[in-house]
Amino acid sequence: ATSANPVDVLIVGGGIGGLSAAFALAREGLRVRVLEQAPEFGEVGAGLQIAPNCTRILHDYGLLEEAKSLGVLPKSMVMRDAVDGSELTRLDLVDLERAYGFPYMVIHRSDLHHIFLHACRRVGVDLVTDARVSGYENTASGARVLLADGRADEAGIVIAADGLHSVARRLLVEDEPVNSSYVAYRAAVPIEQVGRDVDLSEVSVHVGPRCHFVHYGLRGGEMLNQVAVFESPKALAGEEDWGTPDELDVAFAATCPEVRAGIPLMWRDRWWRMFDRAPIMTWVEGNIALLGDAAHPPLQYMAQGAIMAIEDGWVLAKHVAARRAEDGAIDWQGALAAYEAVRPEHCRRVLTTARAWGELWHLDGVARLQRNTLLRARDTYDYSFTEWIYGPTALTPEEEPPMFSPIPLDSVDVSDLIGRAEV
Ligand code: FAD
Repeated sequence: ATSANPVDVLIVGGGIGGLSAAFALAREGLRVRVLEQAPEFGEVGAGLQIAPNCTRILHDYGLLEEAKSLGVLPKSMVMRDAVDGSELTRLDLVDLERAYGFPYMVIHRSDLHHIFLHACRRVGVDLVTDARVSGYENTASGARVLLADGRADEAGIVIAADGLHSVARRLLVEDEPVNSSYVAYRAAVPIEQVGRDVDLSEVSVHVGPRCHFVHYGLRGGEMLNQVAVFESPKALAGEEDWGTPDELDVAFAATCPEVRAGIPLMWRDRWWRMFDRAPIMTWVEGNIALLGDAAHPPLQYMAQGAIMAIEDGWVLAKHVAARRAEDGAIDWQGALAAYEAVRPEHCRRVLTTARAWGELWHLDGVARLQRNTLLRARDTYDYSFTEWIYGPTALTPEEEPPMFSPIPLDSVDVSDLIGRAEV
């Protein structure tokens, strides 16, 4: 075994999903162990946008104030056209906080990861590194994981939060990550290195043909976070080595000066090829359940990937707490069934909407102009696009709000839809 102490729950993967679920379950009094393959717990990357459906959960966990002290609360989110720089639509994030009761926050990924890591330590989660899980099996009394180095461990329940390339997912479905041919470059740089005037009260998104560019402040405005995403011609041509830095400059060459000024700051030694997977509606196999990207890796256009992972753990822990007898025994099958009744459908909606948003953002030609007309017509204070996401996380299917999308989600041909909209 990885450790002598028996636990109630084993969690595989110590990313934001695994750690937040570990904390959620441990604060309900469960004994939890996290098995992480890396030699240390940590997050690579830059900023994360955390919408009210997640700050609400951070508040419930007693972690919101700490997160706010490390993050930034921007005043608005503005979408602009990447070619001509003109404004298309905006969210007033001060009003949004009033409407939903919780703020829209941006935070460094490693800061949020640390908050959960320290919270796990405080509630006694057993945190194990250098533990790569290579196999899973259900047993009579729970589930067992097999480690690549020959060790094994077991518990009443195993939660697999092992990310996009999840090993556990193979228990449920034989699928592969879906290549979008888009790649993300990131940068988080000290503000004094930015060399241009940036309004740090904004989350800014420039959408353009086959590319988009996001920037916002981090760490109380000491840093600027940038994300530059584009479609790789080499990927489309079927080349193995795609998304490389030589493609970055070409992809943004025709964008407005504001966007072009940001490109030289992008990190060029690391990039993130963007894959998602088709939604699946079964996440539980006996005493083994999927959580986070393992269950629902999205394209990141809704900025809900880490949030969905955090919501998963919150929902699961609520159902566990509701099914705990006085002697401490938990109806795990009931809790997992309640989790599976609500989360896959919500995440299916986000995954499909994220793909459709990607189509909309990256339009070219006449379709781009039609999109711009559609977005400009949106009232700043009309929250129907986001109502089904930013409201309280549903615990049951009945609580899940009706979905609203300005674009037809079954169709990949968004231009066709916009053509039909009366714009
Ligand atoms: P991961 O972060 O992938 O963690 C999985 C963990 O499991 C890792 O620590 C890994 O080492 C470990 N592991 C894997 N396999 C094993 C194994 N076999 N044994 C043991 N351990 C294992 N989301 C948002 O909410 N807001 C945003 O603004 C946002 N922006 C994004 C921008 C970009 C460019 C990208 C690429 C993603 C963005 N996301 C965003 C999505 C978000 O990053 C992910 O959805 C989220 O990090 C998933 O967390 P996770 O814990 O499920 O998986």
